[in-house]
Amino acid sequence: MSTAVVLLGHGSHISPNTAATVWEAVDALRALGIADEITAGFWKELPGFSRVLDTLTADDITLLPMFTAQGYFTRQVIPGEMPLAPRTRMARTLGEHPRIGEIIEQRARNALAQHGLTPSEVAVAVIGHGTKNNPTSRAATESQADRLRGLGIAAEVAAVYLDDDPEIPTVYESTSAPVIIAVPYFLAAGSHTVIDVPGALGLPDGVTDSQINGRRVVYTPPIGADGGLTDIVLALLADAGADVTPKPVGSVWDGVPSAGRDHFLAALRASGRLSFGALTVTPREVRCGDGDDLPTLTTPAQVRAAVRTEPFRPLVTVRDMPNRWRVAVKSPEQAHAVVETVYPGLIADWAAEQHGTLHVVNLPTVAARQKGMFRPLVNFSAADEAALCGEICAGCILSPRWARSGAAGGGLPCAEPCNVYLSAAKEGMTGDDDNG
Ligand code: SF4
Repeated sequence: MSTAVVLLGHGSHISPNTAATVWEAVDALRALGIADEITAGFWKELPGFSRVLDTLTADDITLLPMFTAQGYFTRQVIPGEMPLAPRTRMARTLGEHPRIGEIIEQRARNALAQHGLTPSEVAVAVIGHGTKNNPTSRAATESQADRLRGLGIAAEVAAVYLDDDPEIPTVYESTSAPVIIAVPYFLAAGSHTVIDVPGALGLPDGVTDSQINGRRVVYTPPIGADGGLTDIVLALLADAGADVTPKPVGSVWDGVPSAGRDHFLAALRASGRLSFGALTVTPREVRCGDGDDLPTLTTPAQVRAAVRTEPFRPLVTVRDMPNRWRVAVKSPEQAHAVVETVYPGLIADWAAEQHGTLHVVNLPTVAARQKGMFRPLVNFSAADEAALCGEICAGCILSPRWARSGAAGGGLPCAEPCNVYLSAAKEGMTGDDDNG
């Protein structure tokens, strides 16, 4: 029986770190060889929740939400985007593992020790995301605050929220200790923990120790900032019934999704050279750019940094990839893995289209399955849709096969509107910027 693991994350349009934390966990699992295919799926980046299962060929798939709490995303968004097929099982969320509580406790204890503070002079603020869309989102943060209270770690412990009540600034009224240790109960050093939470606390940019409202505020890193999540992920996968026994791994390019791989390899062997988006692929190398002096990259993490981090490109299929590089490969299979790393999920759609099995979903259908802010797009007109395709999709290497205008042939296929398109459409309809 072949197996797969998918880590589900939020992703971001602002910060590369939100998805990078998830991809780091993917790389760690691939290095252990715990499944035949290991990948990530995202709300805001590629591959999307709704498409990622189509990239896998495994008989047995375990999904793990890399979220700090059961709530809006795990109970409404993810089930709406990816109804579970018979071959899939869902693990508990990352935040449900007891070790996460220990990490939060350690963040507070480290701050006490590093700054020479005593518990009697400190209030700890556990800062969660929360959402008014689902009251259960806040339960995990409250439970972490209760745990710290039980440990007597500080004179006061408060739970406050970025997007729920009580809001973050209320910590200055609900507590009175001279020092506040603020612990963001977030996975990554992304836009929420780098911009939004410190901003709500009143911290200047990049400052983690400051006087605010007559109080000293010490701001700690989020829970996944220094890695160390692999053991927790493995434990949650095993709890869900996945076999996580490590197996020998041939190279860092093992363990990528395999849907469409046979078609890709056949095309590469037949032609000897493929153009795939911004890439030129041969059985010996994958390159982005011309010349003999391209820097050589050797790992998936380096490739992701080149194509999505430096500078940040939340949609990796936008034209004009900014960096020039090459990867020397030992086999066509490794070449496939490099392309899958650059364009996650795209080979599966490309091969499916050539086999006549690509599942295309138009904008009204995508909007109809939404639980939140994109739902009003069921009323987005075909004319507005075509105009926005002219703005957004024209800058992408993919062609929107889903467009109701039917004008998008040729090139690599886009089977349904991406989150960048949906965000732009929503902004056009309501004037609201989807900040995140
Ligand atoms: S919706 Fe448009 S911009 Fe987004 S991936 Fe598809 S073609 Fe590209």
